[in-house]
Amino acid sequence: TVRTRIAPSPTGDPHVGTAYIALFNLCFARQHGGQFILRIEDTDRLRSTAESEQMILDSLRWLGLEWDEGPDVGGPHGPYRQSERGDIYVEYARQLLDAGHAFKCYRTSEELDALRDERKAAGQHLALKPDDLALPEAEVARREREGWPHVVRMKVPADGTCVVEDMLRGTIEVDWAQVDAQILLKSDGMPTYHLANVVDDHLMGITHVLRGEEWINSAPKHQLLYEYFGWPMPSLCHMPLLRNPDKSKLSKRKNPTSINYYRRMGFLPQAVANYLGRMGWSMPDEREKFTLDEMMAHFDIQRVSLGGPVFDLQKLTWLNGLYIREDLDDDALLEALKEWAFNEDYVRQILPQVRPRVETLSEVMPLAGHFFSGLPAIDEESFARVKLEREPLLKLLQFLVWRFEVVPAWNKEALLGEVKALSAHFELKMKEFLAPVFIAITGSPSSTSVMDAMAILGSDMTRARLRHAIE
Ligand code: ATP
Ligand code: GLU
Repeated sequence: TVRTRIAPSPTGDPHVGTAYIALFNLCFARQHGGQFILRIEDTDRLRSTAESEQMILDSLRWLGLEWDEGPDVGGPHGPYRQSERGDIYVEYARQLLDAGHAFKCYRTSEELDALRDERKAAGQHLALKPDDLALPEAEVARREREGWPHVVRMKVPADGTCVVEDMLRGTIEVDWAQVDAQILLKSDGMPTYHLANVVDDHLMGITHVLRGEEWINSAPKHQLLYEYFGWPMPSLCHMPLLRNPDKSKLSKRKNPTSINYYRRMGFLPQAVANYLGRMGWSMPDEREKFTLDEMMAHFDIQRVSLGGPVFDLQKLTWLNGLYIREDLDDDALLEALKEWAFNEDYVRQILPQVRPRVETLSEVMPLAGHFFSGLPAIDEESFARVKLEREPLLKLLQFLVWRFEVVPAWNKEALLGEVKALSAHFELKMKEFLAPVFIAITGSPSSTSVMDAMAILGSDMTRARLRHAIE
């Protein structure tokens, strides 16, 4: 039977790209009466968080993309979280070492830098091959004896061509000279993506790997690992990446990429899922509006077109409007509105914000309106009372957007750290610094705490409002 999977790394907000790839994996599996698995690839212990994992599961489920096996629903091939499978990878790395397909590498990072510099100076390709990394036997023995940290790397051919088959792209050829002796186990004993991914796809019985085209370069390494292990190789399909309207890769610098944003903006899950289904794919009759069930029923991977699909907010908005007008009767619209505005999780976050500031319930909505809206209606005039010239004001907001793009964790403490650092940079008191931010976020000169509001609204909505104020 066909088995597909989505394998997100829980290192940030739930990405629309993840949902898009999940959707196609789900449709492919269902079309063949097969199963769809969710596996969490959290081997990067520093960047992976439980909150991110939870948000990814919640978002995919919100979109209606249900999985048959996964960390939360279990299944016969668990655990479905790579951080809980450490021993498995060590064992398979040992097998490769024993068979001579991998080697322990005791090179220090200084030595590796020096090696790379040498080759750069000589104008050579940058891939590091097993021969480049080799040390005299006695030196290896010494480092081993003295307990130097080491990694396990896979052996790769020095030259020749690697031929990989792709379901959409046909035959892909890569020169082995371009492929380095990939690290499989890091010095802390954790696997890299490549080892964990191949071992798990095999052990979990995955037959078809549909993933983003950014992984094409990994395919030769993966194929070689399957050969080394003597395992059948799943079919590969590299999907075109989502694009901004200017055709660059969809990125949070230009476009909201978090599913949380689309949810907070009041998009309907069925419209978002439908729109993602239009990314590089179309129904046989080219209709634009279709349900997930209809997509599954008519799915054909060969209808995926490789020209980069543009994720266009205006089109999505138009489609969402169709759903609201054509698909939701009063009962359904009421339900949608309740779930969007008054779901318990969300409202509970807002209560502490309003309680100290109101005397009657009727004051709540005017005060908390920014929690229940998209981009506030503001213009230059809105900032009239802020004691800052237009130019430094715009600069301040722009700097904040940039800082917020890279802040590693989205919580009040982290945001406060950024605001403090920037207000010092602009030589402003916190209060002065926050005045324009307040208006950009809440749309009014007096409201609930802006720091809390940003934390609650989330990264993409916050950045979208700041950007909106600059435009
Ligand atoms: P950004 O530039 O927005 O920060 P990113 O590439 O850094 O994006 P990651 O957090 O690395 O995003 O990616 C999260 C997941 O989303 C990955 O599985 C990645 O494959 C997927 N992804 C990222 N960008 C795209 C895209 N343009 N199209 C499809 N999938 C994408
Ligand atoms: N963990 C990888 C990601 O975040 C999975 C890539 C794959 O599907 O092989 O995209």
